Amino acid sequence: MKHLRERSKRQLRNCKPKMKNKRNFNLAIVGLGGMGNWHREIISSFDNLSVCGSFDIKPTRQEFAKSHGITPYNSFEELLADPKVDIVLCSTPNDMHREICIRALEAGKNVVCEKPVTLSSADLQAMIDVSRKSGKLLVVHQNRRWDEDFLTIKDIFNRGILGDVFRIESRVHGSRGIPGDWRQEKEHGGGMVLDWGVHLFDQILQLAPGKLKKVYATATHVTNELVDDGFFADLTFESGLVAHVEVGTSNFISLPRWYMLGRDGTAVIRDWKLNGEIVRCTDWTQNDAVPIRTAAGLTKTMAPRTDATIHTQPLEPVHGDIHDFYRNVTATIDGKAEIIVKLDEVLRCMKLMEAVFASAECGQAVDFE
Ligand code: NAD
Repeated sequence: MKHLRERSKRQLRNCKPKMKNKRNFNLAIVGLGGMGNWHREIISSFDNLSVCGSFDIKPTRQEFAKSHGITPYNSFEELLADPKVDIVLCSTPNDMHREICIRALEAGKNVVCEKPVTLSSADLQAMIDVSRKSGKLLVVHQNRRWDEDFLTIKDIFNRGILGDVFRIESRVHGSRGIPGDWRQEKEHGGGMVLDWGVHLFDQILQLAPGKLKKVYATATHVTNELVDDGFFADLTFESGLVAHVEVGTSNFISLPRWYMLGRDGTAVIRDWKLNGEIVRCTDWTQNDAVPIRTAAGLTKTMAPRTDATIHTQPLEPVHGDIHDFYRNVTATIDGKAEIIVKLDEVLRCMKLMEAVFASAECGQAVDFE
């Protein structure tokens, strides 16, 4: 009880007790909507990082801040003028990221920006230039690098369990269309390429080594004309590896989250709960399959293997801890670590999304690197 009382007193003061030998950081949230609040919750478990205030243009979100023990600033300018603020989190709709981040960097703040960092590579370059000039950190919340399905497939890839991997398929499927907010509007940076594609492309670029040579994409407009409500993209790497990336919002039956093909085996991760398995060939010499009879034919080629020549093994889940994102941010500002989500990686991903839009627009594959 005493512990809880201490904790609520601290929350009222909007700050955490000073830790010996550990620098404390104050973060202010700009845009306390769904994701801004998610950051607030994550940060509440840190002992060297606190949310010291927030600003949202919606009065209801200013009230929400108060009811959660956060002092709302009256304006963005007031937030920037507060010397207590070390880090500004930008979690507004996508089209506002550029201006908010640049103004925060120019005010001498470190900046965490939600994904997608902005709407074009030119915008991002402008943000990077200001970050370099100011000497302050600009980092993008590519949080799905810590998702366990991604870490697990990456581990399978890196350990070479499947032999030479020649195809990776990454999909997220829903059936609810695009949420009916700013995500449906082009001027706010809506659409699924920018919303979900940014995560899946970032993951693929983290996973697949070497240059990406070609991008071929088609966009869907099932429920929305103004912005894409899904897409299919084929990325061909210099190594010959092909990654198929897909986001759908009209899929009442979901295909697996990950499907990876190697010369010696196949891995599937069906969902975020990490249902799935790995199947590997154990004997290439026995090729005599019992033919399968279909209603109108016969096939040996497609006859399923038996346990005589394959081994099925469970996935070995790799644990991810999203708190590592802020641990890395604070350690980097403190000069004790190198930032994990690097701006050149984010820029490459932004350019890839531009290539996806360009390919979808012209209906042809486009060269990339
Ligand atoms: P949201 O609509 O729930 O919240 C956005 C908030 O920003 C709203 O409360 C709005 O009033 C406020 N706002 C708008 N303009 C503002 C301004 N000029 N100054 C201050 N506040 C302003 O949206 P959301 O779902 O929280 O998304 C916010 C950002 O987070 C987007 O960039 C989105 O892509 C990103 N996001 C990231 C993830 C992730 O997993 N990394 C998940 C969801 C959303």
